[in-house]
Amino acid sequence: MPDADKSKKEKLTLDIGVEAILEYEAQDLVSTPEALCSALGFPSVEAAPQAVRETGLVSLKEARRLARPRVIYKVLRVENVGSEGIAVQGLPALGSERLAAAFEGADDAVLFAATLGEDMDREIDRLGPDDLWGSFVLDAAAALMTDALASRLRGDLEEAGQETGRLVGVRMGPGFCDWSVRDQAVLFDNLETERIGISLTGGAMMVPRKSLSGLIPLVGGGRTPGDPCIGCARTDCVYRGR
Ligand code: SF4
Repeated sequence: MPDADKSKKEKLTLDIGVEAILEYEAQDLVSTPEALCSALGFPSVEAAPQAVRETGLVSLKEARRLARPRVIYKVLRVENVGSEGIAVQGLPALGSERLAAAFEGADDAVLFAATLGEDMDREIDRLGPDDLWGSFVLDAAAALMTDALASRLRGDLEEAGQETGRLVGVRMGPGFCDWSVRDQAVLFDNLETERIGISLTGGAMMVPRKSLSGLIPLVGGGRTPGDPCIGCARTDCVYRGR
């Protein structure tokens, strides 16, 4: 298996079945005061009280200091896409209508797990007893950064996909839309997540908590990636069109 790619200048491999690790710089993961205020329930930075803005800035800085962003992934063939689920090379059948919609036309699937590392959890927990608000805001800042890490992976996949004429679809994960969180175990059984320090509890929770996993469609042949939100009955979903 390839060594960790620390340069970030090298291109991602999209070779089938090759497991690879990516390490990112926390400074390169964009999480802004605007996004943090929004996550905390304020319509803008200006609408947030001064104390919130100050804690927010401290927490964003702390999140960047504590994060050790890493990703493990591999590309697998998509063997079948039905109306109620998909079949991916080496994995048991995955039942989810929205997952099937996202994978419409897909040739391959990027199976991935990403984490900010255990120091983030440790600091959020340490702050908790004496500084509940600080712990809460750091947790929110770390959640934004986790999302930014997954977005960064997707962006790098788009860049790598361009060379082979493949487009990148919507990132999907167990527990989102109608995809059962129980399938988290399927993903973990097929990826050596311990190489980047992620494990799964019996209740399908990832440790460290600031981690994500999922499948991302790769679509070739000039086809357009599927949109899981088209045809979804949840008309009030805040994630619609993400
Ligand atoms: S509307 Fe919401 S629940 Fe439905 S597919 Fe889109 S993101 Fe998922």
